[in-house]
Amino acid sequence: MDTAEIRRRFLAHFEQNTTVGGHAAVPSASLLLDDPNLLFVNAGMVPFKPYFLGQETPPYPRATSVQKCVRTPDIEDVGKTTRHGTFFEMCGNFSFGDYFKEGAIELAWDLVTKPLADGGWGLEESRLYPSVYADDPEAMALWKKVTGLPEERILRLGKRENYWSMGVPGPGGPCSEILYDRGSSYGPDFDPASLGPDMPVDLEDRLLEIWNLVFMQEELSAVRSKEDFDVVGPLPKKNIDTGMGLERVAFLLQGRENMYDIDVMFPVIEKAQELSGRRYEAGNHDDDVRFRVVADHVRSSMMLIGDGVTPGNEGRGYVLRRLLRRAVRSMRLLGCEDRVLPELMPVSRDKMGETYDNLHRDWDRISTVAYAEEDAFRQTLRSGTQIFDLATTEVKNTGGTVLPGERAFALHDTYGFPIDLTLEMAAEQGLQVDEDGFRRLMQEQRDRAKADAKAKKGAHRDAAAYREVADAMGAAVQFTGYDTVVDEG
Ligand code: ATP
Ligand code: MG
Ligand code: MG
Ligand code: MG
Repeated sequence: MDTAEIRRRFLAHFEQNTTVGGHAAVPSASLLLDDPNLLFVNAGMVPFKPYFLGQETPPYPRATSVQKCVRTPDIEDVGKTTRHGTFFEMCGNFSFGDYFKEGAIELAWDLVTKPLADGGWGLEESRLYPSVYADDPEAMALWKKVTGLPEERILRLGKRENYWSMGVPGPGGPCSEILYDRGSSYGPDFDPASLGPDMPVDLEDRLLEIWNLVFMQEELSAVRSKEDFDVVGPLPKKNIDTGMGLERVAFLLQGRENMYDIDVMFPVIEKAQELSGRRYEAGNHDDDVRFRVVADHVRSSMMLIGDGVTPGNEGRGYVLRRLLRRAVRSMRLLGCEDRVLPELMPVSRDKMGETYDNLHRDWDRISTVAYAEEDAFRQTLRSGTQIFDLATTEVKNTGGTVLPGERAFALHDTYGFPIDLTLEMAAEQGLQVDEDGFRRLMQEQRDRAKADAKAKKGAHRDAAAYREVADAMGAAVQFTGYDTVVDEG
């Protein structure tokens, strides 16, 4: 089933529902909503925040959407896990003081288990594992009632996985997730009754999280961390906020191994194979990660430019710059030295443009911005490469085997040369890099920058934007911010 059909079925399931009532289908908001705590919209509920916070009256009691999301903190996972993109689409259903836990559980379970022929996902019940917050007996009872599963089949997880807040005083509540067991080749066997309170890391790939249901039911007065907060009491109006990963369901239903291999992303990998002459999934893990990074980053940078971001040295612009550069660099590491974005990005446009027609309408602008950034980066690489060659020749001539940290730092600082590119190129020359020395110099520079920033009052907007602590779905994120972004180039 193609991704477009999954999207269509999701929306129809909620729009046409007759048990709790039809949901208003709300188009995706821009990735760039104004929110002091978020760089980009990172969950389906973000556009509805004013309703959840009681700041505005919702024009409908129930809504459904497929929202564009960007999660910069997930960038390190891209291509390495099977399931994290920097850009993804979150399918959601929302109740503003209308139906609550029972309705949300029924609707979600119905969609995932309903046969394909009847408009659902047709996932085998024996592979599905609901999870509840360990301290939510109400949800446990409802899952048993709705699904007929025995209690031992339902995971009890702790606050880290299954308690949601915005990271600040305001609404909070327990969650339930729906996990899909991909089988023993993806992780060790497990006993559902005794898992938790945290999800073991070695099971994350096997027990794929597809859907998160948030039961917003209480008011928090203080949130010190994911696991340490004060509950004041029940909310006057209880809300539902759910998020299902479109790409995750797509890769299950399309019988693929991971989200980068689905219909709307794989053509970019195919194009990258053609350009590089290397094969995807031919036994070289590093190359496979690079192909996936390319597919993800080409798509996310295109979507960001589509919504109005331009490359820059801070905030949103820096995230975009980093994504574009990583895409180009990954292609280089795959052996492709020519301009790549003019080949790759139209492939992604043709797929994503089926849903987001602004990509076609605005293509001149989008492509001009992207290609200019590639050209600038190619220039950086050209000048940096000369300096790199000089440095390595010098090391070799003196019989050394280690490129000094100062050299790596200068390459980074003056030529914008990312450290992992330096590492990779040094390895090709049979050299190591004094990474400790490099990191020490980076740290010194950071400390100087921090001292500077402190001195300049009012210059903090950017840092605040990076502090995505109020990550709307409650994934406690620690974005290490500008410095790390620079590291990776
Ligand atoms: P995970 O634990 O896998 O990182 P999460 O708990 O951070 O996911 P939620 O905040 O609960 O994710 O978001 C709701 C749903 O959105 C998830 O259940 C998943 O299906 C999907 N999702 C979350 N992050 C990503 C991502 N980076 N790429 C693709 N899909 C995602
Ligand atoms: Mg999770
Ligand atoms: Mg979750
Ligand atoms: Mg996450």
